[in-house]
Amino acid sequence: MRHFAVIGSGPAGFYTAEALLKAFRDRCRLDLIDRLPVPYGLIRFGVAPDHQSIKAVSKRYEKVALEPNCRFLGNVHLGADVSIEDLLHCYDAVVLATGAPHDRLLGIPGDELPGVVGSAAFVGWYNGHPDFADLDPPLDGEDAVVIGNGNVALDVARILAKTSEEFTGSDIVGHALRALADSAVRTVTILGRRGPHQIAMTPKELGELGHLHEASPVVEATDLPPGELDAGLDPGQRKSVQHLRDFAASPPDANKPKRISFDFFARPLAVEGAGRAERVVVERTALEPDGSAQGTGETYVVPARLVVSCIGYATPPIPGVPYDAGLGRFPNQGGRIGERLYAVGWARRGPTGTIGTNRPDGYEVAEQIAALFPADGEASGRDGGEGLDRLLQSRRCDPVAFADWQRIEAAEVAAARAGAPREKLVRVEEMLRARGD
Ligand code: NAP
Repeated sequence: MRHFAVIGSGPAGFYTAEALLKAFRDRCRLDLIDRLPVPYGLIRFGVAPDHQSIKAVSKRYEKVALEPNCRFLGNVHLGADVSIEDLLHCYDAVVLATGAPHDRLLGIPGDELPGVVGSAAFVGWYNGHPDFADLDPPLDGEDAVVIGNGNVALDVARILAKTSEEFTGSDIVGHALRALADSAVRTVTILGRRGPHQIAMTPKELGELGHLHEASPVVEATDLPPGELDAGLDPGQRKSVQHLRDFAASPPDANKPKRISFDFFARPLAVEGAGRAERVVVERTALEPDGSAQGTGETYVVPARLVVSCIGYATPPIPGVPYDAGLGRFPNQGGRIGERLYAVGWARRGPTGTIGTNRPDGYEVAEQIAALFPADGEASGRDGGEGLDRLLQSRRCDPVAFADWQRIEAAEVAAARAGAPREKLVRVEEMLRARGD
């Protein structure tokens, strides 16, 4: 018998668990450990609440969690309740699927002012992450700035611009729905330090901005490169740029009071304000031959009481695990960090790729582990989950089992608004109460 621990129950964790269970079948026991009492990581807390079809993948993960040789242990903190040494002592292999839940910092003057928030915090707030339940972002100004030209910037801009009606069928949490209904925000300016050909936005997500009830996308035609240059783009990128061309070609709808305005070649220099964010000082840029953005010295000001930076994420370090602060993740060779210790997903690659990218990633690491432990190999004698259970008990840590999560989920479904799939519980204590504590 082999014993494996996967830390983190988001997509990367579940695909790895699935692959290990397939490779070892009834020759293994696997524990899927999460610091929160609820599973699914990025699916629950990252994917936008109005993108329910993407969240449906959790049904596949549920099947993995219900496999007889798999256990979910929520509410267990690696680094507080258990150490990496404890896990390597109990298990034959440990896989870190801890994601990249921390915001990369803007690093400009004024980025610490109230009103400046990172996307992990802002997205966590509208998605009901317990760490950000009290964020209370300022929505009292007419102007907001979103920094970055990736899909997260699109998610944030769209959520800020939607009406309550447009959230029907979503699982946006009640506190965010109410705050957004009262929001004064009318203009969301998306700052991109490079140009339309350098965006990291995908066509489907960008196209959605053209169909909002109360908001029109605004693109300056003069920012767009000559049309013939689009031929050099890959097909997805070309479709995205076509959306920008369509937005530039149609004047904003006079019947829609909100604007989502794209400022390209625009690099934030500072956030200013008297005790809170009031404006962003922006420098115009030009592209260098290597594709990087170079400041031109010309500046302008965009008013903003809310500034959301959507410039990428970092994996937090874990005591006892090598960490590269520059890369913001664990250094690894094809997923291998060290002896019997692996990383998958964003903890392995950094914060890029779609949910599906994690599948081959997890399978590749499972193959490496399978090669280490052939079916006819000698057993290691490690006691796996039983050893962990003893440790947790001695430390008064009471893990949340998958059956407990199912009770929490039932409570969330029962509390759903009309038309919504669930009303998420947003506090750890509420989750623990719902499991029957
Ligand atoms: P991303 O795609 O890497 O985009 C980050 C953006 O931030 C880039 O435009 C980057 O510009 C900009 N940026 C970085 N540092 C900056 C700075 N100091 N100042 C100004 N701008 C800066 O990251 P993301 O949007 O966080 O998305 C993460 C991953 O999740 C991506 O793979 C994304 O596609 C995926 N995702 C997918 C969906 C979906 O499919 N619906 C939704 C959300 C996220 P440069 O290019 O100039 O560096």
